[in-house]
Amino acid sequence: MSNPFDNAMAQLDKVSKIKDFGSDFILKLRQPDRDIKVSIPINMDDGSLRIFEGYRVEYNNALGPYKGGIRYHPDTEINEVKALAFWMALKCAAVGIPMGGGKGGITVDPKKLSKDELERLSRGWVQKFSDILGPLKDVPAPDVNTTAEIMAWMADEFQKITGDKSGAVITGKPVGQGGSLGRDTATAQGGFYAFEALKSHLGLADSCSVAIQGFGNAGANAASIWHKAGHKIIAVSDSKGGILDLNGLDIPALLKFKQETGYVAGFSGSQDITNEQLLTIDCDLLIPAALENVITKENAADIKSKVILELANGPITSAADDILFKRGITVVPDILANSGGVTVSYFEWDQNLKNERWTEREVLDKLRPIMESSARDIFLLAKDLNIDLRMGAFMIALERIRAKM
Ligand code: GLU
Repeated sequence: MSNPFDNAMAQLDKVSKIKDFGSDFILKLRQPDRDIKVSIPINMDDGSLRIFEGYRVEYNNALGPYKGGIRYHPDTEINEVKALAFWMALKCAAVGIPMGGGKGGITVDPKKLSKDELERLSRGWVQKFSDILGPLKDVPAPDVNTTAEIMAWMADEFQKITGDKSGAVITGKPVGQGGSLGRDTATAQGGFYAFEALKSHLGLADSCSVAIQGFGNAGANAASIWHKAGHKIIAVSDSKGGILDLNGLDIPALLKFKQETGYVAGFSGSQDITNEQLLTIDCDLLIPAALENVITKENAADIKSKVILELANGPITSAADDILFKRGITVVPDILANSGGVTVSYFEWDQNLKNERWTEREVLDKLRPIMESSARDIFLLAKDLNIDLRMGAFMIALERIRAKM
């Protein structure tokens, strides 16, 4: 299968066939401003030395400082980080926040490290990149397998090295250590606001059946938020496998079960299914909330949901997009659907720089109109041109970046 960066570039090629953005501009966007790979040597608890590979990709900063999370995953490699950084640039532009696009990562399975090793590794990443990071230069955040606690270690390391006390170099910090209220649930919450704004246009009922792939920060919070709003969550999965209950899963009990056991499989009253089966379940709304390239031309014809809302980055390949569009399945694309995370990151950065602390209500009251108006603008443009919502979002985002460049 092609890597996520090939997919990102296929999306860029597709949009440039719909609208002429000028060949120089498209050429410029085919490469990041810079991509850096470093070795991070770490003393392990048993006294041995291990070298980890770390990355930071700074894609485009026309709209503001490079912005984007840091991923810890055994499969993380430079092409994935490049794709994610590209999507960050478009994501910030699509919802109109003054940030550019970047992304970072480390090739590691964090579940196999002790807490002390994880802290040394996280501080090691900052030591390697401290000269390119900064509140007005490049501002990381959490992503897959990185937590508020990791952000706190990183912010502390950056302060030790540079003396910058604002904390604005990194977002997604714990509340009380410069973090913003509402940041931990912002990705799912923003996706929900976009869903609410589009629901009636997409022909969805007030109560939908929902399947969610992935039960990390985005997926688990989505389960909670959609469940509380009266929707029926019939299936969820995590890296070990999935569960199904057509009567609707008891989400509060499942969250507790996951916390205790580490996984969703084996939850009482549910039937075990695979991640692949979850994707093709008959439901109103499918939410991929895990990793890239899970819906491809191999399984796009088997998808049975009416709408797909991408809380993950890049879960659908460009070829699969075309199949889904022809089949009348609407995809609410990642750069809109999961942009609540970076939007509240931007609010955190803003609060740090102004030394303010906003209430959760203030944060949500600022997030909601951004998500609603972005969703509506993208929907109307796509409808007008008879293109999918991803291409609509790309057009709006690219036009904003081009105008600045
Ligand atoms: N990692 C998240 C994303 O992919 C958030 C990035 C951020 O807050 O900067 O959008």
